[in-house]
Amino acid sequence: MLIDTHAHLYLDQFDDDRAAVLDRAREAEVETIVMPAIDVPSIQQAVDLCAQTDGLYAMTGLHPSATEEATDEDFEAVKEWCHHPSIVAIGESGLDYYWDRSFDDRQHAFFRRHIRLAIEADLPLVIHNREATDDILDILEEERTRTDHPERMRGILHCYVDPPAVAERAWELGFYLGVGGIMTFSNSEVDEYVAEVPLEHIVIETDSPYLAPEPHRGDRNEPAYVRDVAKRLAEIKELSLAEVAEVTTRNARNLYELPDADGR
Ligand SMILES: [Zn+2]
Repeated sequence: MLIDTHAHLYLDQFDDDRAAVLDRAREAEVETIVMPAIDVPSIQQAVDLCAQTDGLYAMTGLHPSATEEATDEDFEAVKEWCHHPSIVAIGESGLDYYWDRSFDDRQHAFFRRHIRLAIEADLPLVIHNREATDDILDILEEERTRTDHPERMRGILHCYVDPPAVAERAWELGFYLGVGGIMTFSNSEVDEYVAEVPLEHIVIETDSPYLAPEPHRGDRNEPAYVRDVAKRLAEIKELSLAEVAEVTTRNARNLYELPDADGR
């Protein structure tokens, strides 16, 4: 059984065939799909999908790119969702230096608010990082020394593409590395980096509909393809697919506190 720890299934790219996408995920033995929010409306959309289908879970949060326009009321709404039974994490929050550097101060302020909320609500935090690795780790370390509950800090550094030294800093802060499509691309070095990260610190993801893994590169991504991520990870680790599935699924279940397949 596999878990896709990061898929935006509520986006309109899936409006025409969402049921078929979910069927294919089930055929690929993807038992659970966790949906990160990007803005306030997306939280409701994800929670609505959770109500319709078993094995779906949602997050509450504002994507860093949404923080340019986000208001205090938006963050209040994010907070209110924390206690909903379908919500298993805060995210995706973080820093994105790739698209627009004109509102870094807002990105930083909202990232800190999400970190503090995750600690207060005792939920894992799913972090989006684009060309901002050092600032993200520095801010996490700073917030960890500031809180009364450092042991509650945990989560996933999603779309992991950094050298092993970053992985070590992240797992020491309680974060798993979320690996996905980029690891399967022949022109990336991520496979070499991931080879040096113990499987105990790795979870797998698609980031659907973006970043489809090989052999689907360039197509719309979907949760069934997390199996292709797992297969590549098995090659890199020289393990069987079953072994990779077992460990990464256990990691994700522990972090998101998900019931196992028997409902326990
Ligand atoms: Zn995402």
